[in-house]
Order: sequence, then C-alpha cells, then structure tokens
Amino acid sequence: MVEIEAQPDAAPTQMATRGVPLNVAGVATRTAPTDLSVEQPELVFDCREIGVRYNGVRALRDVNLQIRRNAVTALIGPSGCGKSTFLRCLNRMNDLIPGAEVDGVCLYHDEDLYGPNIDAIEVRKRIGMVFQKPNPFPKSIYDNIAFGPRVVGLKDHLDDRIEEALRRAALWDEVKDRLKEGALSLSGGQQQRLCIARALAVEPDVILMDEPCSALDPISTAAIEDLMTSLKTDYTVVIVTHNMQQAARVADTTAFFSTDQGETGTRCGVLIEVAATEKIFTKPENERTEAYVTGRFG
Ligand code: ADP
Repeated sequence: MVEIEAQPDAAPTQMATRGVPLNVAGVATRTAPTDLSVEQPELVFDCREIGVRYNGVRALRDVNLQIRRNAVTALIGPSGCGKSTFLRCLNRMNDLIPGAEVDGVCLYHDEDLYGPNIDAIEVRKRIGMVFQKPNPFPKSIYDNIAFGPRVVGLKDHLDDRIEEALRRAALWDEVKDRLKEGALSLSGGQQQRLCIARALAVEPDVILMDEPCSALDPISTAAIEDLMTSLKTDYTVVIVTHNMQQAARVADTTAFFSTDQGETGTRCGVLIEVAATEKIFTKPENERTEAYVTGRFG
C-alpha cells in the first residue's frame, strides 16, 4: 500500500467541506482539487493495483481503474471474473466478508479509502450500494427511507428528505398515498427503486449497483435504467451488469474484466480494458474484449 502523508493543515477535502469527515480523526489527508474550471470531470476513484484474496486464494489482481464524477461506469465480463468483488472494494464492503483481504490502493477523492483513520461506516454512507435482489426492510415504505437518516442523525425535515429521495428514485408518484404501507407489498421493480431511494436518503456521493436489474422484468428494468441516467446528474454511478445491452444503453465508460490463470493454478479476475462505452462495443483495443462483446466468448 502506498503511504499517504497526513497533512493536518491541508485544505479540507470535499467530504469535509460537506461537514462529514471521512476519517475518524476528522483530519483531511490530502488536498482536494480546488480548480473547478477544469474541463475533465473530477476523479472520484483512482484505483491502483487493486487485488482481493478470499481465504488466501487470489480472486482479483492488479486492477488499475479511474472512475469520474457524474458518469455511469459499467463493469462487464463473464461470471466469476471479479466484477462484484471489485465493486465491493469501492465502499469497503469486502471488510464484511470473513477471509477477504484487499491489497493495492483505492483513492477516493484523493484520500486512501483503506487508510488507518478511515471510518468504514462513513465510507458506506458516502458510497451507497444497491444489490441484485431488492432487500427492503419488513417495515413501512416511509420507515425504510427514514431508517438511514435516523441512524446517522439526519432527523430534521425528515418528511421532506423522504419525499426528495423517493422523487429522485422516480417512485414518489406511485407511493405518495401509501407511505405507511409495508414495503414488501410493492412490486419487485418498485422495491428496487425503494432501495435506491433508501440509499439516496443519506445524501451519498456515489451509488454502487450490483446487477440491480437481474431480478426484474423488462419494464422495471427500463425504469431502473432511466433512473441511472437521471441519477448521474447528481451522483457518480458504478454498476455491475452481465447484460451487455444494458451497459451499452446506460454507461458512459465500460470496464471489461475476465480471468487469467492465477498464482496457484486457479482462475483470477483481471481488468482487460476500460474505455468509453462506444469504443468498447465498436472498436475495442484488446482482442479478448472484442471476442466477448461480439459473443464469441463467455
Ligand atoms: P463476478 O461478479 O464477476 O461474477 P465475483 O466477484 O462474484 O465475480 O467472484 C470472483 C471470484 O471470487 C469467484 O471465483 C468467486 O468464487 C470468488 N468469491 C466471490 N465471493 C467470495 C466469497 N465471499 N468467498 C470466497 N470466494 C468468493
């Protein structure tokens, strides 16, 4: 891991300027870019040589990937190539898997996400996650959305916050008259939008989505895809999808993962190529990417 020098007197990071320090000490460790006039969208993640082992067996290695603000980045590739494993590196979700070890450096707004003073709970608040299968709590629609804000102490104007989150998740009009009804009474597609609203209610910066449409019908899938496109105005979105058409429809940037022979003879996930989505699907640089996107492999 690269050591990141502590700079207690540095200008506050973007997170700190929002009043929410990322590290437990509340100390900014790197200076955030201050020139907002630059053309290139701001870098949100700068991943260097990221790898993961499960119980000592390497599942992913050497991922170098940059993720920019206000864009949808799709992670595609055959099953088992480490897409979800990599996604979980971006909000320290692998910390919760016994036996999982992450190596390399993951800078988030220039701050080492795995640095010694980083509060993993704060990380997961800033970098929310939506899973494959909608997982609402067995509570009312209202209480599902209110849960996160209540836990993190965002209790003022709770009704407004809930309405805003549901509007952003394109669910408000469908549920505004039934907020006290159980969330489990919603359809699968509505439940997934509820889970997105739940993630939005704590004011995240990034939304990670792990195959968010794989349990949904085509109409609900279209609604979530539209939502991803509208969310990128305010958020940075990273999705894992096994559906190449979906990546082509929604993603600005696409990263293609595959597997190589690992150290112990087992298959190990690697990043093959990352580029603008159109380039990945029409003029990829790597022949393995081309074989995959043209359906000749995987
Ligand atoms: P993908 O999302 O591309 O299908 P995954 O990230 O789920 O791939 O899996 C990559 C590799 O890591 C696979 O070999 C898988 O078996 C292994 N793996 C994933 N999660 C775990 C876990 N919790 N424990 C052990 N091995 C895991």
